[in-house]
Amino acid sequence: MSIIIGNWKMYKTRHQAVEFIKALLPLIQNCPNEVWLSVPFTSLQVCVEEAKGKGVKIGAQNMNEASEGAFTGEIAGQMLKEGGAEFVLLGHSERRKIFHETDEMIAAKVGKALEVGITPVLCVGETEEEREGGEEKEVLQRQIFQGFQKAPKDAYVILAYEPVWAIGTGKMATPKLAAEAHVFCRKILTSHFGKNGKSIPILYGGSVKPDTIQALLKENDINGALVGGASLDPKSFAAIANAR
Ligand code: PEP
Repeated sequence: MSIIIGNWKMYKTRHQAVEFIKALLPLIQNCPNEVWLSVPFTSLQVCVEEAKGKGVKIGAQNMNEASEGAFTGEIAGQMLKEGGAEFVLLGHSERRKIFHETDEMIAAKVGKALEVGITPVLCVGETEEEREGGEEKEVLQRQIFQGFQKAPKDAYVILAYEPVWAIGTGKMATPKLAAEAHVFCRKILTSHFGKNGKSIPILYGGSVKPDTIQALLKENDINGALVGGASLDPKSFAAIANAR
């Protein structure tokens, strides 16, 4: 069973979010995979209520590493937990690039998410320049080691490999290239987490579409997908979620 996560980014009002879930549920009744949705903070609670008992996990797209404090505009892990979030995306490349999040900040967020009982989905991936310069392994190693610095060896965490050049560009990594990166990520995970590293799900993200998901899921260490653009439409997201 794979894990398919939709990342809505800053799309969908509460009303649109509810409409989406109502349209999605009948389309994934015999779904072979786990379906998770990462929604805007304002839609968290309505999505949790709408998806209750229907096998869809609802999560958030970011959180602050502090427990509470004078951080205008931020949200704490405990607030997400109370709102019903079961997981949170951390270190998405848009957060790293636009909001200048460092590996150190991301590590603190991962630690806090685990502390409050939310599964962290750590996003890692190289830029186009880094790949062209042959630095992708170095980048992945650094982002994984540092990002999981505060995670206990037996923690339940998820890793998402998202090459930055493939996000929102329509340029999906070939299954072969993605698989090579996943095998490398698995090596880093086992050296960091020991035996637990063998079972940590590694998801691929970057321009996944209904017609490309199947080939990705056939690869050994690709345990699911993180889907941006194609998760905004219930039909295309259901087609991805139903892939075997
Ligand atoms: C993402 O935002 O994590 C992502 C993978 O986006 P897209 O599927 O649109 O490339």
